[in-house]
Amino acid sequence: MHGVPPFEGHDPSRWEQFTRTLQASVPASMWQRWLSKLEPEISPRRVTLVAPSEFHLNLVKERYGELLAATNAECFGPETELILVSLAQPLETIDDSVTEVEVRPENVSTMLYKRYRFDQFVLGDSNFFAYGAAMAVANQPGIAYNPLFIFGGAGLGKTHLLHAIGNHSRETKRATTVCYVTSEKFLNDFIDAIRRRRVDDFKARYRSTDVFLLDDVQFFEGKEQILEEFFHTFNDLHQMGRQLVITSDRHPRNLATVEDRLRSRFQSGLVTDIQPPALETRMAILQLHADLGPKLVSTDVLEYIAATVSENVRELEGALIKVTAFAAMTSRPLDLEMAKEVLGELAMGRKKAIEAFDIMRATAESFGYTVIDVQGKSRRQPLVTCRQIAMFLCRELTDLSLPKIGRAFGGRDHATVIHSVNKVKQEIRSGGDVSERVESLSKALRK
Ligand code: ADP
Ligand code: MG
Repeated sequence: MHGVPPFEGHDPSRWEQFTRTLQASVPASMWQRWLSKLEPEISPRRVTLVAPSEFHLNLVKERYGELLAATNAECFGPETELILVSLAQPLETIDDSVTEVEVRPENVSTMLYKRYRFDQFVLGDSNFFAYGAAMAVANQPGIAYNPLFIFGGAGLGKTHLLHAIGNHSRETKRATTVCYVTSEKFLNDFIDAIRRRRVDDFKARYRSTDVFLLDDVQFFEGKEQILEEFFHTFNDLHQMGRQLVITSDRHPRNLATVEDRLRSRFQSGLVTDIQPPALETRMAILQLHADLGPKLVSTDVLEYIAATVSENVRELEGALIKVTAFAAMTSRPLDLEMAKEVLGELAMGRKKAIEAFDIMRATAESFGYTVIDVQGKSRRQPLVTCRQIAMFLCRELTDLSLPKIGRAFGGRDHATVIHSVNKVKQEIRSGGDVSERVESLSKALRK
């Protein structure tokens, strides 16, 4: 353990020693499921281990953080820094203040995650088109569709496809340099370049790539300076015939604060979406992951998980990991009963969402009106109050946008909704009838 010379460069035998030591220190199933999934990025005096998901990262840190640190010191020398990061960490949860092991997402986001490949991506109606477009781009960078813009909700495989394009085009030698970067890292690099007066380096670095993969561009919303800079990066790369692939959580037309000129650039190639997978696809994804694990997971357990988690593939995988990890830790058989027990909370949290219509009906009834009255034009009292309360509840209990709420209430505009919501807030503050009624309606609706 002592006297290990500092690790200065690439020496594959050190990594082998590292994995062998780890493997010998944990049960085989734990090695299989957790530690073998960490991908290394080794540089002088720094070893970065990339976990496939945040859940994975947290578990590894909690259970094996100390072991990893000790093994790192043993194999790479105590001078070598060990960094644990997760690749699929959603932007909004990056928080490096709470972890003992240093987390620096910016160190890894330009690398490609090797497990995110086309052959590890399960096809279904929901992602078929995006997959096809991504394949085409990987096979003919700069030629097929440029730019390719992929949008869709969280955890549906956008980042996976970006990496798959990068891996594939590099392995088939259709591209020499591939750059994967999250929008957050692009922004941070830019800020850093300005601070250090190295903007030219920044420009040169991002323009020297054959395939430029930019993840989560919605992060640029409202940030004028970086939008301006990215506009120029985009144009330069595009003019040189380099491939651009951009992902976002929404369609370019809904990137509200992005100027038209950039928005129209985004739409000048191919725009394609990814939808949540159907039950059948969710089963296939689970099957793929279950097959990689050390233990067989029965079909009824997989079916239960697939039925319980429907909107997000990352959560789907998380649920499977949770169940199998629980089984491994308690050495109980992995059956449906256990899955229900472990995921019970999740299943309960998936109660049907409250809809605008339910709110309108319940509120109307409590005043002796009908939904038609609430949606109608009459401005008599107490119908107006009833309508305002229903709008307020829609704002509180659903995630509908103001315009959508307006539409549900017979095509009113969003200013009317804002006015109603504020009015009810005021009434609640002053106590009295309205506040009581809102309280009881909200309770009844949430049941
Ligand atoms: P996004 O970037 O859209 O938020 P990710 O690409 O990070 O989502 O996907 C979340 C997780 O789900 C990843 O582990 C990814 O491998 C997996 N995943 C998503 N879609 C599929 C799919 N169709 N087949 C297999 N795995 C998938
Ligand atoms: Mg992503």
